[in-house]
Amino acid sequence: MKIAVALTLFLAVQPSAALLGIGKLRKYFGKGTMPQPRVTAGGKKLPPLTLDNKDLDRVFAKNQIWKASTLAKDKDFFKKLGTTHTPDYMYIGCSDARVDTNMIMGEDAGAVFVHRNVANMVVNTDTNLLSALQYGVDYLKVKHIIVCGHYECGGMRAAESSVDHGAPLSIWLRNIRDVYRIHKDELNAITDPEARHRRFVDLNVIEQCMNVFRTGVVQKRRKETFMAGEPFCLPQVHAMVFDPKTGELKRLECDFSQYEEEMSQIYGMYQLSEEDKAVIAANKPAPKKDAPKKELVAETAE
Ligand SMILES: [Zn+2]
Repeated sequence: MKIAVALTLFLAVQPSAALLGIGKLRKYFGKGTMPQPRVTAGGKKLPPLTLDNKDLDRVFAKNQIWKASTLAKDKDFFKKLGTTHTPDYMYIGCSDARVDTNMIMGEDAGAVFVHRNVANMVVNTDTNLLSALQYGVDYLKVKHIIVCGHYECGGMRAAESSVDHGAPLSIWLRNIRDVYRIHKDELNAITDPEARHRRFVDLNVIEQCMNVFRTGVVQKRRKETFMAGEPFCLPQVHAMVFDPKTGELKRLECDFSQYEEEMSQIYGMYQLSEEDKAVIAANKPAPKKDAPKKELVAETAE
């Protein structure tokens, strides 16, 4: 009786499984080959998708290997991992499977607070990213926010094309196309398509760093650390790009202070008031000549 009820319920919520017929249920549940052509958003053809239960066997087997090797290096690793979450870095990167955050930074689990999406975007209406940013800045108090793009990015290539990829992907890609519009003179002047793609990736990362600076949560925290007398305003924001063809992670040289006027006049929400300046003057000794320079709104990428 219980089996009959369970089967009825199952078929009710899985009508497509019922339509497939018993003979095809095995394929429906993930064993076999899906012959449909697979194409990336950038138009690249992929081999047919094959599914096998060994796919998951591999996941758990590798988990055991990783767990054992980690314990061999540090027998207390998971005791610490299970009780503390104090990363210095927040990483905003692309969802691309080749750009493994901890692997390319050489960091263990627990060191990096991560948010990833298609083409490492910082979109002002993306409550997913903004929630992660708020948590990372307000609660974890990360010192560094890294926006990391990568060359050979399918999301960037899709935005470079004139294809309508359908919603919601096309809506997302529109944000990337807006970056191209801002820099179209520079990008259109690059005749080599690969060089243009790489520069587009660089410029997109810099624009997304600017979007990080434009958020209230980051501005508020930077003002707090400034008022507290930290040597640098925190969190610092860094533009980086990963090249999957070489494994190299590089920092993009960008002087964010060149945008200071735009940032403070249009986007600034936590500028210093006269009262703040009086508090600073009253509480802080005069800076030494060789003291590190710090700016409230933006600084050169560190
Ligand atoms: Zn990508």
